[in-house]
Amino acid sequence: MEASVNSIETFGLIDGPGIRTVIFLNGCKLRCKFCHNPETWLKKENNYSEEELLKKILRNKPYFKNNGGVTFSGGEPLLQYDFLVSICKKLKKENIHIAIDTAGIGNGDYKELLENIDMVLLDIKAITKESYLDITRLYGKFS
Ligand code: SF4
Repeated sequence: MEASVNSIETFGLIDGPGIRTVIFLNGCKLRCKFCHNPETWLKKENNYSEEELLKKILRNKPYFKNNGGVTFSGGEPLLQYDFLVSICKKLKKENIHIAIDTAGIGNGDYKELLENIDMVLLDIKAITKESYLDITRLYGKFS
């Protein structure tokens, strides 16, 4: 199994507690007006096998003390759901804290993933339907 990866940050301090390896996965449908990662919108040919990514993450394990760990961000990590579930199960066995940084827009049914992660950083874009559709540039698509 492979994932389309945009970039990897090995010393992340703002995407969850402690020191974290942050994996920015490619693919996002929302097109938010204020997006600071537009380079992640499309899936590109920068694929990592599960083994390659695990190796990179586990190399940083000594820095994960005090609640550090790994964060899957993007883009929208839920769009690579099967890969995410599979690698999170393996990271759990290694006793690594796992966070998902998501806007909550995947393909539905996240039970298996939620059973295998520790934290959800949910990006709530807006609190009214109108502003949500405006910010995400989806206005008109659902009306
Ligand atoms: S959900 Fe995140 S990555 Fe996707 S367009 Fe919005 S800000 Fe950008």
